[in-house]
Amino acid sequence: MKQKQISSLFGALCLLLACIVVGLPTLHAESEGVPQRSDIEDQYKWKVEDIYPNLDAWESDFAYLTDNLPRLEAFQGHLAESPEMLLHCLSLSDSLDIIIGNLYVYAFLKLDEDNRRSEFQELGGRAATINSNLGTAQSFIQPEILEMDKAKLDGFLEANKDLAVYSFLLEDLMRQKAHILSTEEEAILAAASAISRAPQRIFTMIDDADHKLGTIVDSNGEKIELTRGRYYKILEGTDRDLRRQANDTVQNSWKQYLNTLSATLGASLDKDYFYAKTRKYNSCLESALDGDAIPPSVVHNLVDAVNANLAPLHKLISLRKKMLGYDTLYTYDLSVPFLPESEKEYTYEEAKKTVLKGLKPMGKQYLKDFEKGLGSGWIDVFETEGKGSGGYCWGTYTSHPYILLNFNNKLEDLFTLAHEMGHALNAYYANQREPYVYHNQTLFTAEVASTTNEAVLMKYMLANAKDKNEKIVLLDYYIRQIRGTFFTQVMFTEFELAIHERIESGGAVSADFFRTTYRDIMQKYYGPDLVIGPDNDMSGMKIGHFYRQYYVFKYATGYATAQMISQKILEGDKAGLDAFMNFMATGTSKYPMDILVDAGVDLNSPEAVERTIALFADLVDELESLLLEG
Ligand SMILES: [Zn+2]
Repeated sequence: MKQKQISSLFGALCLLLACIVVGLPTLHAESEGVPQRSDIEDQYKWKVEDIYPNLDAWESDFAYLTDNLPRLEAFQGHLAESPEMLLHCLSLSDSLDIIIGNLYVYAFLKLDEDNRRSEFQELGGRAATINSNLGTAQSFIQPEILEMDKAKLDGFLEANKDLAVYSFLLEDLMRQKAHILSTEEEAILAAASAISRAPQRIFTMIDDADHKLGTIVDSNGEKIELTRGRYYKILEGTDRDLRRQANDTVQNSWKQYLNTLSATLGASLDKDYFYAKTRKYNSCLESALDGDAIPPSVVHNLVDAVNANLAPLHKLISLRKKMLGYDTLYTYDLSVPFLPESEKEYTYEEAKKTVLKGLKPMGKQYLKDFEKGLGSGWIDVFETEGKGSGGYCWGTYTSHPYILLNFNNKLEDLFTLAHEMGHALNAYYANQREPYVYHNQTLFTAEVASTTNEAVLMKYMLANAKDKNEKIVLLDYYIRQIRGTFFTQVMFTEFELAIHERIESGGAVSADFFRTTYRDIMQKYYGPDLVIGPDNDMSGMKIGHFYRQYYVFKYATGYATAQMISQKILEGDKAGLDAFMNFMATGTSKYPMDILVDAGVDLNSPEAVERTIALFADLVDELESLLLEG
């Protein structure tokens, strides 16, 4: 998962969609013979020059922003004076945000073409600095609005109709006012923010800098120094002894940090609880969800629905054990594909054709825009020396979307193309319809756009599989995706609930507590046929997601929502497709739950979650019958 953030008026705004890593990351950094960027044909490169034709144009906007940033100061202390004052301040702030978006995204897209280029490292540094200066210059706006009362703001909206564009934003701010403290108290909290980030910073230092995974020896006697990429690749491989060795070595390498990890995660929970209490929330969950106005019941219902339906996951684990022919199935046996020798390769051109055919049910307009995106410099397709890893979609309010891929002819690359194009079209449509202030997507809605594409495409590919083996490979991929994006995220969420509730009820945490809790939940999810090795229960303490409380459940709800929408589209439900297209052009001009209701899914009801579990059960049954057919 990769994320770049740029600050904006109302808190950290993510312009880059962070896609969860399903299964295993693509490997490339260590492969040999990676081409240079100059070796790649232009048609396979994105056109960052569509943002700025050259560096002079970038410099010109940079100078404009530098000159105009101080204009915000004139509004400080005066927002409550008149509707015009408020309107002009918000408009100016938005116009500067649009420019910083272009400066920032341009610099970092150029840098991601080849991270070794120092001129773009420098440009990125300058963009980040001016972005931070802009954030500081805007920082008075929100508190000043919050000092006004609702009646006054309503009067402003009544008196100046041009303020109407901001009415939802103002309503949403007022909604959260009950959790804003006095000016003095807010100042103390703001001053403590660096301290509050310490647990995450310490964890990141252990995880990225100090921790070494260890070294193993393969069957040829060759030493392998484990990196994360190599470790994941080994876990996907068919050499079981190597998998076991790698697992044991990696778990062992973490043991020396056991008590540090426990103390760090414990400190992060203390921090979550401190802010929840101080801001007068009943729980950490309530505090984490309030920004998006999501009721805590959505999370509890999700976990309950999955708990009531774990049998298909248990069945999958039994099937895996049987097919691999093991007496005991360990966690390091979970990532091996069922038919690795039958995996097909897809060239980029083949992938494009397949995706376009598969997405026909999405309608003519969608396909037309999809095809336009494929041919208009949106996508940077191939891996090159120094290029950013993984895949993502990014862009600005005034530019077309940009997609970074590292296309490597695998099935997952084909699906990544469909996935990222879902994000891209979501941004493309929303940028056209929404005013700047609402053009972005929240994580809660964003993954719906991308995953709907994948679900519709998968249906087509399964229906058109040439033979049994191809079908098995597709089913295996699909099942692993649902396991990773849905079940695993719900399992993580249940762990988050358990460890936060421990702190909230006045209990203490320890390494033993974290390990036992994680082990019990994982065992419950995977069932009696999985044996969790003695040290594999440390996982709960080394997952970075838990340092940002309660957000991974959004991948699960997003997935379930997308499944339900895709089922309607595939049934030929015209209203369902219209609702989806309307959803695709929506940013944040409504509460996220309401946006999903408009798209046809009410997460207050368990229907979407239950449909996903039912689909998963069907897929496991189908896989089983194909595998056992012989
Ligand atoms: Zn995504």
